[in-house]
Amino acid sequence: MNLGSHGGNCGHSCCLRIADLSVKIGSDMILENISLHAHCGEMIAIIGPNGAGKSTLLKAILGQQESTGVISFAIPGQRNRKLTIGYVPQSPTFDPGDPVTVADLFACCMSKRPAFLGISKKMKEKIEECLERVHGEELINKRVGTLSGGELQRVLLALALEPLPNILILDEPLSGVDVEGMSMLMDMLDEIRQVYDLSILMTTHDFSTLETYADHVILLDRAVLCQGTPSEVLNSKEFQTVFHRKGGTQ
Ligand code: ADP
Ligand code: MG
Repeated sequence: MNLGSHGGNCGHSCCLRIADLSVKIGSDMILENISLHAHCGEMIAIIGPNGAGKSTLLKAILGQQESTGVISFAIPGQRNRKLTIGYVPQSPTFDPGDPVTVADLFACCMSKRPAFLGISKKMKEKIEECLERVHGEELINKRVGTLSGGELQRVLLALALEPLPNILILDEPLSGVDVEGMSMLMDMLDEIRQVYDLSILMTTHDFSTLETYADHVILLDRAVLCQGTPSEVLNSKEFQTVFHRKGGTQ
C-alpha cells in the first residue's frame, strides 16, 4: 500500500486522521487497512471504481457503518470543542409530485415547530441566510422534487452548512449535475471552503476537476492504492491499472 505524503507522519495539523480502518460486512472485506489524514482547510477527493468502498468509507467516518481501526477528529488549538460534520449523501431522490418546498425542507430540519403550522418570519429569514451561502435564494419556494441536479446539490449543501461544520463530507456531489453545473458547484465548494475555513472530503467520478480543485487525491479500491497530489495520482500506474486509460471521466 502506498500511503503517499499524507499517509505517514503528519506534517501539520489534521482535522481527520484515520488509521488501519477496516470494514467487514458479513464475510466480505469491504475496506482494508485504510489510513489517511485530512488536513484542516483542504479539499480531499476520494476516487475509485464503482463498488470500491467510497460510500462505505464515508459512512464509517460518520459512524453510520461499523468499522475497526482508529478515526479521530481534531480542531487545532481547540482541544475540547465539539466538532461538527456536514454530510450530503449520494444521490438522494425526491418525488417530483411531492408538494414539499425547499423552505419546508429547511423548516423540518431546523425547527421543532410542526410544518403544518407554517414557517415563521424568523425561520424564513434564517432559511434565506442559509440559501445565500450557496447563491440559492431564488430556490426557496421551489418544490424539492422539481429541482435540477445542480440546484438540489446546492440546497443539500446549504442544509449541510447549518450549523457551519468543521468538515464537510460529500458523496458524489457532481453526479446528476451537467458539465456547466459541475464547475459552478466546484467553484462554490472552493469558495465555501475558504470563506468558512472548513475541510471538504468528497467522492467523485469526475477526474477533470481534480487538478483545479483538489489538494489531495486518494485512489481507493478496497484499500488505498495510491494517494498524493492530483497529478501524482492521475499519472500513477495504479490509476492506469484501475481505469485502463489516462485521465478523463470514468
Ligand atoms: P462505492 O461507493 O465505491 O461505489 P460502496 O461503498 O457503495 O462503493 O460499496 C462497496 C461494496 O460494499 C460493494 O460491493 C457493495 O455491494 C458492498 N456493500 C455496501 N454496503 C453494503 C451492505 N450494507 N451490505 C452488504 N454489502 C454492502
Ligand atoms: Mg458510492
